[in-house]
Amino acid sequence: MADAGLSSDCIVVGGGLVGASIAYGLARSGASVIVLDEDDKALRATRGNFGLIWVQNKGISMPQYSAWSRDAARLWPGFAGQLLTETGVDVNLQQPGGFCLCLSEAELLEREQSLLAIQKAVSGDYPFEMLDQQALRQRLPAIGPEVVGASFTPMDGHVNPLKLYLALLQACRQMGVRICHAAHAGKIEASDDKGFRLSCGPVNYRAGKIVLAAGLGNRALAEQVGLYAPVVPTRGQVLVTERLRKFLDYPTNKLRQTDEGAVHIGDSVEDVGFDDRTTTDVLQFMARRAVKSFPLLRDVNLVRAWGALRVMTPDGFPLYEQSIAHPGAYVVTCHSGVTLAAAHALRVAPWIAGGSVPAEISEFTSARFSRGLARPMYVN
Ligand SMILES: Cc1cc2nc3c(=O)[nH]c(=O)nc-3n(C[C@H](O)[C@H](O)[C@H](O)COP(=O)(O)OP(=O)(O)OC[C@H]3O[C@@H](n4cnc5c(N)ncnc54)[C@H](O)[C@@H]3O)c2cc1C
Repeated sequence: MADAGLSSDCIVVGGGLVGASIAYGLARSGASVIVLDEDDKALRATRGNFGLIWVQNKGISMPQYSAWSRDAARLWPGFAGQLLTETGVDVNLQQPGGFCLCLSEAELLEREQSLLAIQKAVSGDYPFEMLDQQALRQRLPAIGPEVVGASFTPMDGHVNPLKLYLALLQACRQMGVRICHAAHAGKIEASDDKGFRLSCGPVNYRAGKIVLAAGLGNRALAEQVGLYAPVVPTRGQVLVTERLRKFLDYPTNKLRQTDEGAVHIGDSVEDVGFDDRTTTDVLQFMARRAVKSFPLLRDVNLVRAWGALRVMTPDGFPLYEQSIAHPGAYVVTCHSGVTLAAAHALRVAPWIAGGSVPAEISEFTSARFSRGLARPMYVN
């Protein structure tokens, strides 16, 4: 028997980190919100990410992305504090800056050149340091002899991404957001005056606005409302060690020690379609590099490994767009949903709620795909 239906100001399709951040920001703006999410078997980048809040090396072919990532990182302390006050959940934010370790002179040179290129593109407002082995050892005493140096930027950091997700969902619920699980959104019906209608099984949902934040599901959903979201999966694998005494005070782009002491080693970038399994060859490669970087890891136990799929646009940059054909329908997608969580909640959601579009994101529409930008140079 068909349900009479649920209505709200806004439906957010997708309850991963992007959808939860947007729902949180919309609810804070006073909107009533329904989040539709799939079941436990769904593909979720949110469950498998590396937890970095990373600015370094982002935006090499799109300076706006560099600036946007940096703005997001600046919003993080206030955002984390807000979540703690509202929910009591400490997301373990640390922003001491971050290192990219280099195992050859060629790697070090290439890194310096790419950071210089970004610094030039953003007119100098992009602090970084290049350190040789001796200088690096002052800050990371545990590095191995094969590490020739590193780049450092003070803008980087990390959080516990599962606690972040927990805090967002809890805060959403506290503000009355209705989160519906096992609610796969299929056909979206749009009408000029009544907004949007969706059916998930026997339940009908209606709202004046709809936000597509469904990760890899956005591709099929977007075209129904006149949007274009050509996202594809890119696999990343992550290895986790047993908990160790603290030896690493900073995150690096391929390895970090969590607040609980475990070391997370990642993360590969693989074009393997929708296969989210782990593979021994990739895990072995990552483990070898980790041991070269920090030889003390040679004798520790590995306790877990996973694979998960990133949500990638053709150039790797985010998509924030309202449909021209169906105003009130938005797509929000990116592959750095941890880094950008604060910006999604505090900048993008208020725009969707009725504010003006933040100038910094005006370039992040699908129109750029016809301009043929290059593949991304970063992964986190
Ligand atoms: C290995 C790896 C490492 C990463 N490391 C970092 C990092 O260090 N820093 C960082 O900032 N980011 C990182 N990311 C990216 C980050 O995890 C994602 O950007 C973030 O999880 C947000 O993803 P999302 O919400 O867009 O997608 P997802 O987490 O995939 O969520 C999409 C949701 O939409 C739902 N859905 C899909 N279709 C439908 C439908 N039709 N109806 C209803 N619901 C639907 C799915 O069930 C899912 O819950 C990493 C990702 C991976 C895989």
